[in-house]
Amino acid sequence: MTAIQSLMPDAETGLLGTDPSATESAGTYVTAGGYADTLTPGELLDRICESGLRGRGGAGFPAAVKLRTVREAGGSPVVVANGEEGEPGSAKDRWLLRARPHLVLDGLARAAAITGARTAYVYVSDPAAAERVKAALGEWPPDVPVEIVETAHTYVAGEETAVVRRIDGGPALPTSKPPRPYQEGVGGRPTLIANVETLARIALIAARPEERGHRTSRSTLLTLSSGTAQPLLTEAPYGTTLRELATAQGTPDACGALMGGLFGGLIGADSLNLPLDPTTLTAAGTSLGCGAIRFLGPGECPASVAADAVDHLAAQSARQCGICVAGTSSISTTLAALATGRADGDAPEKLLRWSSSLPGRGACGLLDASAGTAGSLLRIFPSLVRSHLDGPCPGCASSPPDGRRLTVPVPKITGIRSSETRIPRPSPAP
Ligand code: SF4
Repeated sequence: MTAIQSLMPDAETGLLGTDPSATESAGTYVTAGGYADTLTPGELLDRICESGLRGRGGAGFPAAVKLRTVREAGGSPVVVANGEEGEPGSAKDRWLLRARPHLVLDGLARAAAITGARTAYVYVSDPAAAERVKAALGEWPPDVPVEIVETAHTYVAGEETAVVRRIDGGPALPTSKPPRPYQEGVGGRPTLIANVETLARIALIAARPEERGHRTSRSTLLTLSSGTAQPLLTEAPYGTTLRELATAQGTPDACGALMGGLFGGLIGADSLNLPLDPTTLTAAGTSLGCGAIRFLGPGECPASVAADAVDHLAAQSARQCGICVAGTSSISTTLAALATGRADGDAPEKLLRWSSSLPGRGACGLLDASAGTAGSLLRIFPSLVRSHLDGPCPGCASSPPDGRRLTVPVPKITGIRSSETRIPRPSPAP
């Protein structure tokens, strides 16, 4: 069971909204200012640029740069709301689509208006999310035609080139880059692929033009978990410390964390004093990624958590690139041996070599995440790694690696409440 609790000073204006356990109706959304004509597409793009909004899918790329690139690419662009979150510790995107589909669709329609797209897709693997989006499209048809494309839930299915391939009728597997989707995407057309939280924040910037997006771009949805307390879906302003997040999630005595889903690597206890801020976290050698943070509770060993992470990645490798198949499997086997005290004396040396030589050599980031996780374990916990060569610590001895432990369930969402505001369905766009 995943709990929901906002850490925003003014929770009602954030993404979690006033009732995060129910699906918001079109009527309630419109009454609160959604879908309103507040800014022209060009003005909205300027506001997004000014706000510094970064993408919330993992890479943290400036949203305005992506929008502007597709807008200026010419041709007949396509926009995609990417709701496929492959990280096992993340549940925020599926919650967003289930609970606030209109916020995402509003953002998608605005992204279409900015880029000039006349074709839009919602890409999703979660059947419950797909159902809520379909119902929302029936309640309030957007100006741009929107098609829902469903996919299998895998680690790589949300990678941008995998999204393009799936929408074009192929398998949801990454391809090598270039070309990138903004150059040549769906049907060979310039394509904006935006994470659903990014689109929701674009809709909020449009709904509150007087704020100029500063507050909206400086808060984020987070999925927090640990091995000792129940997961928490939350929204927090930048500046909140990681320790404050650990306390909110129920792990106040955390001794470290696995950051960003599986992309930010491990951090130690000292780093829990860092503030939630992408620039600061990057400077400290980690990242927020998709906003999934797994804290290490008392007695939880970083070696075991690293082995869990790469065990999951090795199982999820799309097995297209030989270097990824061999690399993730070697790292996974070596980390599992280290965690259980069976590793050879040269295991740290091998892990160090792989962590520096493998990044960037696969078609997608899965191999980088495996190598980065191993590298962070060696860098942040060197004495623990050495001690594991003599035998497992008590935590690892009692609990061998199992990547399935990292999975966080989506919070339970009820349907639209009968007390929600209802409005007549508008006519579809001609
Ligand atoms: S790097 Fe791995 S997961 Fe990514 S495309 Fe290649 S084989 Fe698949």
